[in-house]
Amino acid sequence: MARQIPEKKRLRVEDRANECCEYCYSQMRYSPDRFNIEHIIPVVLGGLDDLDNLALACFGCNRAKHRVIEVRDGLTGRMVMLYHPRRDRWLDHFRWSENLLEIVGITAIGRVTVERLKLNRERVVNLREVLLMVDKHPPSLFKS
Ligand SMILES: [Zn+2]
Repeated sequence: MARQIPEKKRLRVEDRANECCEYCYSQMRYSPDRFNIEHIIPVVLGGLDDLDNLALACFGCNRAKHRVIEVRDGLTGRMVMLYHPRRDRWLDHFRWSENLLEIVGITAIGRVTVERLKLNRERVVNLREVLLMVDKHPPSLFKS
């Protein structure tokens, strides 16, 4: 785990992210644990504590990403940067599957991020299924 982020900054990151994991869009309010403030570019690779380098991430995404920022794309064999919540727009790289339970990568960035961060982990999909039944999934920011 990296440096401690001051509470005020943490709250700004949580608020900016609408209290959703910025990768898998799990909602903090339906998680038993508070989410992590994640360094998009890890501290060990020179990433700073600036708001531009911080994202809200659930434990699963944070753990799966670890210190990785780029991954080989199985489809093309090329190295591809993982999704960057500050530089990239989620909807440019991902969409919800027809039944809204899975995240589909629609670009190379989307594909490698779905795979590396395991955005469709069984428990996350199970939670989406339950939340969908009570109209709490996808998160309200996806509803226009
Ligand atoms: Zn997540």
